[in-house]
Amino acid sequence: MTSYSDTQLLINGVWRAASDGRTIAVRNPATEEVIGQLAHASRDDLDAALEAAERGFQTWKKVSAYDRSKVMRKAAQLLRDRAEGIAVLMTLEQGKPLGQSRMETLGAADTIDWFAEEARRTYGQVIPARASNVLQITIKDPVGPVAAFTPWNFPINQVVRKLSAALATGCSIIVKAPEETPASPAAMIACFVDAGVPAGVVNLVFGVPAEISEYLIPHPVIKKISFTGSTPIGKQLAGLAGLHMKRATMELGGHAPVMIFDDADMGQAISLMAMHKFRNAGQVCVSPTRFLVQDGVADEFITDFKAAAEKLKIGNGMDDGVDMGPLANARRIPAIEKMVEDAISKGAKLLTGGRRIGNKGYYYEPTLLADVPVNAAIMNEEPFGPVAVINRVQGVDDALAEANRLPFGLASYAFTTSSETSMRLRNETRAGMLTVNHLGLALPEVPFGGIGDSGYGTEGGSEAVEAYLDTRFVTQAL
Ligand code: NAD
Repeated sequence: MTSYSDTQLLINGVWRAASDGRTIAVRNPATEEVIGQLAHASRDDLDAALEAAERGFQTWKKVSAYDRSKVMRKAAQLLRDRAEGIAVLMTLEQGKPLGQSRMETLGAADTIDWFAEEARRTYGQVIPARASNVLQITIKDPVGPVAAFTPWNFPINQVVRKLSAALATGCSIIVKAPEETPASPAAMIACFVDAGVPAGVVNLVFGVPAEISEYLIPHPVIKKISFTGSTPIGKQLAGLAGLHMKRATMELGGHAPVMIFDDADMGQAISLMAMHKFRNAGQVCVSPTRFLVQDGVADEFITDFKAAAEKLKIGNGMDDGVDMGPLANARRIPAIEKMVEDAISKGAKLLTGGRRIGNKGYYYEPTLLADVPVNAAIMNEEPFGPVAVINRVQGVDDALAEANRLPFGLASYAFTTSSETSMRLRNETRAGMLTVNHLGLALPEVPFGGIGDSGYGTEGGSEAVEAYLDTRFVTQAL
């Protein structure tokens, strides 16, 4: 078994400690033990990373898309070769079951491959001119050094989308990866270094998130930012980016509705949703949260979903057969407890769960609440934990009204066999993503992003590549 390792900064191609020697402790959420130390970047380190990113950009933008793609594909292969060890690091620092860590790591290799190929097709255009002696063309250029800020729920996946899009298009990047889960993203980034990405093209820093973002975003070297995290922080960072006219991609919180109608295949709805709701202990921005179930199937749904939730094996993600690990950090426990207590005090029915498990490790029971009034906090704020709300609806109109009630619009789910209902959902669901009768989100080749308070920009599909490119127009009389 791989043991956990301390994590260093990566600046200008060199792995090293912070210039002032500061470190941050990393804990295993399953045991609460300190398992390693993390280098905490000083202002001097950030300046060095900025200088490296600028130099790295000047080098990397001149490498052809064909050659960039070759290096990236080599990194992807190294990641596959090292996936077992990296998955262990992820489970030790984040808590999710080892199988989920393995899938995330291998999925990241596919993401790298996809961006490596897609960026070879960043075509400009020749635009027909009004005069016969005029040539009009568009040219796609890399936007420049990128600052990326990523959270702890998917330590690798949140980094790899930003990193792959940046590198594939010829940008350099400073990644501010999560302090809670640093070793697995660092091990993924090491694959790029070992594959031959030139010094300065990828830099990795950690520290106090607000201090780093407030320094990097306005800095003239940085030309684009990409942030994944909560809506309140996203709004602050988007404001700062706007003030300094920086391009920005914002992947923020959600509050996904799941609309289940009387004509749904209930076996499918229950088995897919029970697995999906409790994946990564519900700490997923597209996690299903508000189950809006039509009256005719509500009792069946409640009985079977409750049975599925109660069957889950909760434990240390390193142990065989565990379905759900602990929450990723201590502050999630009081956050979830407060939301569940608030819902019950406002009249919600607790169907199962509702308590912390034990007092060592950040374990919380899979929890189902029914008949939750809309003024409960959990109906309005992202729970980001293993808690689901099940409310009854009479039909498509009130399902859509509730689904669209919140300012968020990230993922949404539906189960129906009616083509008429599906058509209404396709046309009227206000969300960046809708998946009907299956789970089809988050592949590298399809858009991944929200609307409204869930942010803007997408981190999948061809638009994700565009987000790292400037379009320049040249017109010439011949
Ligand atoms: P938080 O709002 O403090 O932090 C969320 C993420 O943003 C963390 O990774 C954090 O390091 C980073 N962050 C915080 N302040 C920042 C700043 N000023 N500059 C740059 N980065 C900053 O919350 P938390 O306690 O870590 O997580 C709780 C909430 O965050 C959840 O309820 C959920 O809504 C949201 N979240 C969303 C995602 C996602 O995938 N969209 C991931 C993790 C957390």
